[in-house]
Amino acid sequence: MASPLLINIAELLRRAGSIRDVDRQIDASEFDFADSRIVDGSKIDVALTLEALTDGIVVHGTLQADWRCECRRCLRPLSGRAEVEVQELYQAVISDPDAYPITGEQLDLLEMTRENVLLSVPLAPLCRADCPGLCPQCGADLQSAPCSCSREVRDERWAALDALKADETQSGTE
Ligand SMILES: [Zn+2]
Ligand SMILES: [Zn+2]
Repeated sequence: MASPLLINIAELLRRAGSIRDVDRQIDASEFDFADSRIVDGSKIDVALTLEALTDGIVVHGTLQADWRCECRRCLRPLSGRAEVEVQELYQAVISDPDAYPITGEQLDLLEMTRENVLLSVPLAPLCRADCPGLCPQCGADLQSAPCSCSREVRDERWAALDALKADETQSGTE
């Protein structure tokens, strides 16, 4: 199946400094996201500018996608629209290890869009920063139905989990 984001760049390749805009709405199914967070049947908004350099084409602009998942503590359904700014390089002769390939006079934005959209949707969101989650003993949703179980057990558990998360976040950014 042909990529719905295959762009003819013959004009761009002729002269450095040339610009072309790509504004499209592509059905999410075209990307094979294989990720339950991307809403089935939704459209991915692609608003990009392609700019010819002497050694490639730089692509910048924004991508938007509808996402849906659950609060990681209380499992409430959450949804939203992710927007991500991208700046990527395409090259016929790859000299930048992060560059995407140009094949002939075509540039395929599909894989780049797919990767950036997946990075932009939340991984394990909370319905609110202080979501109390579910009671580990009786399963009650503590936000709407406080239970009479001992609270100390639960609070210690979240504190341990949050400390773990903080460690992961720190080591991830180093
Ligand atoms: Zn929640
Ligand atoms: Zn309980």
